[in-house]
Amino acid sequence: MNIEEFREFGKASVDYIADYFENIRKIEVISQVEPGYLKNDLSEKAPLTGEPWQDVLQDVDKFIVPGLTHWHSPHFHAYFPTANSFPGIVGELFLSGLGSLSKDWNAASESTLVGLLCGIQRTVRNTLKLNLHLTKEQIKGKLVAYTSKESNSSVEKAGLLASVAMRLLPTDENGSLRGNILLDAIKRDKEAGLIPCCVVATLGTTGTCAFDNLEELGEICNKEDIWLHVDAAYAGAAFACPEYRYLMKGVQYTDSFNFNPHKWMLVNSDCSALWLKNTKDVEEALKVKSTLSKSSSFEHDIHQWQIPSSRRFRALKLWFVIRIYGVEGIQKHIRHQISLAKYFEHLARSDDRFEVCISSMGLVCFRLKGEDRLTQDLLDKIFKKEEDILDALLLQRKNWWLDL
Ligand SMILES: *Cc1c(COP(=O)(O)O)cnc(C)c1O
Repeated sequence: MNIEEFREFGKASVDYIADYFENIRKIEVISQVEPGYLKNDLSEKAPLTGEPWQDVLQDVDKFIVPGLTHWHSPHFHAYFPTANSFPGIVGELFLSGLGSLSKDWNAASESTLVGLLCGIQRTVRNTLKLNLHLTKEQIKGKLVAYTSKESNSSVEKAGLLASVAMRLLPTDENGSLRGNILLDAIKRDKEAGLIPCCVVATLGTTGTCAFDNLEELGEICNKEDIWLHVDAAYAGAAFACPEYRYLMKGVQYTDSFNFNPHKWMLVNSDCSALWLKNTKDVEEALKVKSTLSKSSSFEHDIHQWQIPSSRRFRALKLWFVIRIYGVEGIQKHIRHQISLAKYFEHLARSDDRFEVCISSMGLVCFRLKGEDRLTQDLLDKIFKKEEDILDALLLQRKNWWLDL
């Protein structure tokens, strides 16, 4: 493809995507095709000679798009939102176009692992100093970490990957991990000869968007010299608004803090940001002797702070979003989404068939009154698109990205 064709292909593709957004409301959220449908439609063999981009674009429309679930449809209500915005899309184009590798952005699950590894190494170092008769391996065998049973499954997985026992502690009735529960667990483990090394606190749990009590947990971690990692993957974006910052009271105690701009801050997947109090800890934890780039002109070797050594330059699209929306635009977006959740909560509460179990940030957990089976039946009906149910329940949401 020459540069003139690239211009045409690129412009036609942007037009295609703009049309897609203009019509997204009319498209079924869930793909209507049978799994395996592509087998009959697409050629089995790679083409021997190259084909014109026009044909490829046409096939994207005809064959690929019908097989997709439309995560950005305003009618998509599953899981957490996947952020998206026009500046984010253009940012994505630029970061591919400029092709530069960056070294500094994780995903939430990986950040938890990095935080945990830092905690392990710091605890091993500190324990070695005080217990000259113990070896590193002996200490590692005694380490234990803590999180709540409401934390994301990736936290348990981090324990698995780091070969550290990860205690899933019970929460209070609001889904929040409290200091007394942590303190009891630490006491029990220390009495059994184990060594606590890390606590992973969640601000905005996946199930109910609950907030662990960071202040209580932080004071304990600080006193016991335990690494405190905060997983604020979804809800962290809300701290752009001062009125929600009370939920991260105690943040001064954290050693590492992660949130996903790709979840709620208008940046396309993937983009997750990790903050570290002291980057020396992560350098100590992840440094290996045989690195390719021995000398760096930067103050820090950022690629030492993470597991892969190269990444796409995702900071660029985050920068696009921050520049083009500004702090106020991001705040407006968060507040608007929370107001939509409040509106939905109001609708659910004013319908006496429903009860609202939890409403936190953009998440509203609700159910039909009575047995769980009824709610399950309703969900099945929604999935099967039984018309009467849809008419009764479908809420028209505004095309928020066109407003912003
Ligand atoms: C979504 C989520 C994760 C996982 O994030 P990835 O970036 O997909 O790894 C972890 N923790 C919480 C609380 C989440 O909401």
